[in-house]
Amino acid sequence: MRKYEDTYRHKGLRKKLIDILRDKGITDNNVLDAINNIPRHFFLDSAFDEIAYEDRAFPISDGQTISQPYTVAYQTQLLQLKPGDKILEIGTGSIYQASVLAEMGTKVFTIERQKNLFEKTKQFIFKTKYPNLKFFYGDGFEGLPTYAPFDKVIITAAAPFVPPKLIEQLKTGGKMIVPVDEGSLQRMLRLTKNADGSYEEEVFQNFSFVPMLSGRNG
Ligand code: SAH
Repeated sequence: MRKYEDTYRHKGLRKKLIDILRDKGITDNNVLDAINNIPRHFFLDSAFDEIAYEDRAFPISDGQTISQPYTVAYQTQLLQLKPGDKILEIGTGSIYQASVLAEMGTKVFTIERQKNLFEKTKQFIFKTKYPNLKFFYGDGFEGLPTYAPFDKVIITAAAPFVPPKLIEQLKTGGKMIVPVDEGSLQRMLRLTKNADGSYEEEVFQNFSFVPMLSGRNG
């Protein structure tokens, strides 16, 4: 059995990470507080305790990655969260991004297409801490029509296009943060849904994500 310990050393490393994120332009204190409150090293293999607080992405199992802290902070800041917001996340992966959202007092519905990763969510260490975080095995392109509409949608994989069903599942005035393929990188977009079902688009900087693939795996 793995022993989970959040020592003073880890807390110190986390403080340094927060300084790095501030230097890189993250200004939303609610986002920074959430990152400061979550022991990111619990989301990685115990061999990577120290690396967990470097500002970089890291491989988890099944060829997938835990997003770089800066990317998590950036996407979360763009979401402009309010406590109680109902959020759909595509790409559960390590559950780190979903935990940041839950820590900020939102209701999170997260979907993963890889069976192995989904199965791991059953042993999630913070299950009781975040009762408002719910896990689903499925294809993110389909969303979760049963639970729609959502205030916000966040896609944490490289989308080949804006998934139309996810726009449908947004409330009017709701926002989607999505990195959309543009050559070998992705352009971060924030979409705001209009009453007639169309959306406004704001364009932000480029990032690099693992691909959003259709269908379930496993
Ligand atoms: N939010 C994650 C990032 C994981 S990387 C974290 O904080 O760790 C992206 C994840 O998206 C991978 O786990 C990948 O399997 C998943 N994914 C890719 N395409 C998907 C799809 N169509 N539906 C659901 N998940 C998908």
